[in-house]
Amino acid sequence: MERKKIDKYILDRLKRLLKNSYSPYSNFKVSALIKTKDGNMFGGVNIENESYMYGCCAEECALAKMVSSGYTKNEIESLYIMVDKIKPSTPCFLCRQWISEFMDKDADIYCIGNTFDYNVYKVSQLCPYTFGEDDLNEAKID
Ligand SMILES: [Zn+2]
Repeated sequence: MERKKIDKYILDRLKRLLKNSYSPYSNFKVSALIKTKDGNMFGGVNIENESYMYGCCAEECALAKMVSSGYTKNEIESLYIMVDKIKPSTPCFLCRQWISEFMDKDADIYCIGNTFDYNVYKVSQLCPYTFGEDDLNEAKID
């Protein structure tokens, strides 16, 4: 099977976004780009805080921009995540919960390093056992 390619403008945009990352504590810069099914794009970066637990991830930031612009579940075609390291990273598990909330199980997630080495995953591969609507409905007791 041929490997899915990433458009150069997406790689360039992710690389430019990395510069906006506010990560003075971890020095781990991350950018994310959501491409919606109707062709819109929403970018995000990780934003840290001196009170460490109140930062937000790049994926979360991009999703917040998308949702506040009027998009909702299952409108994402693909998610691109770039780290400012050679080796690509996968999303943290808090982000995987966000991803499983808003993305189709067969949508693509591109995890990219700063020299454009990358891996492609399906949402179902990174989020195989999700907590979701079924759990909440099942938990109700009469
Ligand atoms: Zn995260």
